[in-house]
Amino acid sequence: MAEGTKKPFSVREIREQFPALRQTVYGKNLIYFDNGATSQKPQVVLDAINRYYSKDNANIHRGVHFMSQKATTEFEEARIAIQKYLNAKKSEEIIFTKGTTDSINLVAFSYGELLKEGDEILITTMEHHSNIVPWQMLCERKKLVLKVAPINKKGELIEEEFDKLLSNRTKLVSVTHISNTLGTINPVKELAKKTHAVGAKILVDGAQSIQHMKVDVRDLDCDFYVFSSHKVFGPTGIGVLYGKEDLLDRMPPYQGGGDMISKVTFERTTYNELPHKFEAGTPHIAGGICLGEAIRFLNALDMDAIQRHEKELAHYAQDMLDTFEGVRIIGEAKQKTSVVSFVVDKIHPFDIGTLLDKQGIAVRTGHHCTQPLMDFFKIPGTVRASFAFYNTKEEIDTFIAAVEKSISILK
Ligand SMILES: *Cc1c(COP(=O)(O)O)cnc(C)c1O
Repeated sequence: MAEGTKKPFSVREIREQFPALRQTVYGKNLIYFDNGATSQKPQVVLDAINRYYSKDNANIHRGVHFMSQKATTEFEEARIAIQKYLNAKKSEEIIFTKGTTDSINLVAFSYGELLKEGDEILITTMEHHSNIVPWQMLCERKKLVLKVAPINKKGELIEEEFDKLLSNRTKLVSVTHISNTLGTINPVKELAKKTHAVGAKILVDGAQSIQHMKVDVRDLDCDFYVFSSHKVFGPTGIGVLYGKEDLLDRMPPYQGGGDMISKVTFERTTYNELPHKFEAGTPHIAGGICLGEAIRFLNALDMDAIQRHEKELAHYAQDMLDTFEGVRIIGEAKQKTSVVSFVVDKIHPFDIGTLLDKQGIAVRTGHHCTQPLMDFFKIPGTVRASFAFYNTKEEIDTFIAAVEKSISILK
């Protein structure tokens, strides 16, 4: 759909398409502020799940029969929808995985096979565990060195330090596009330029960006971009690895099995072409098709308006929380969106989360799979409210009042 034909953004209209939002919890209207952990699903995605298993269920890429061909077509059309949405050059560059974690592990294993002792991987302090641990495992396996670019107290990457750590020993930079804990938006386009200048590749962890902003992998010029379906209004168990074709072509397969082969004999096996080379075994067919549906849903929306709406929500919540005595906002980057993390003096985040829950408000408490980041701020965890396009200012008013009440109970 051309940019000009997008429907004007209406939060009321969007909410109507998410049945999960129309429920009460402990007799209160649900306020869902845990979108950083997972998103709710629109009716079109729920219908697609039902339709697939009611009518089209068949294995793909191997059947001569009607249902198998229909399932194959739908699965491959989903791949094309994702390719177009990301503005990738070819649909072969879109690999279906289990999710962000799986995509990063794929790259860590497979791209990792091309690396040699002493090569360096560069990440940042604000990475999710799934963008830390696979690199630690790779470094151990291949005797590589993991470097960590530091952040400042506001939760922004210190670019001069990043520049210093980047060298001709660096082979891969792996960085989150948006921090799931802080909401910081990293300047990945600029980082990609710097990375390429030393001859390295860059992986962008898009788990928190694709649902919040328009992403164009060719404009960013990233070598890999990864995300999870379940955070972008699709089902769990499926996700995407985008990779530049020439790079994916050079990388060995991650797993062996059906579908990823061209010819198998006991003496020698040759591998299938992209994208199948990286998709061993029966994939999550329904998941892929329904993720395609979620992406089409997103594509019909005005992402710039959505980004403005979500930024406004985050600022509104943060400004009000900031006025509370004893409340400290964690993550005050100039470029941030969709997330407000905070701690309260002498009160454990878990206790606030529990009281908010009793008031029908779903937030996340804890380390958010970013323990090194919690160590940096010297806190055990935060209360995190993370927003999606279906959240409203009225919900934030209710949330703020509920936080105030919780603090007064716990003090
Ligand atoms: C959620 C998340 C991940 C991990 O995603 P999974 O769906 O659990 O694989 C990685 N990075 C970031 C920034 C995330 O928010």
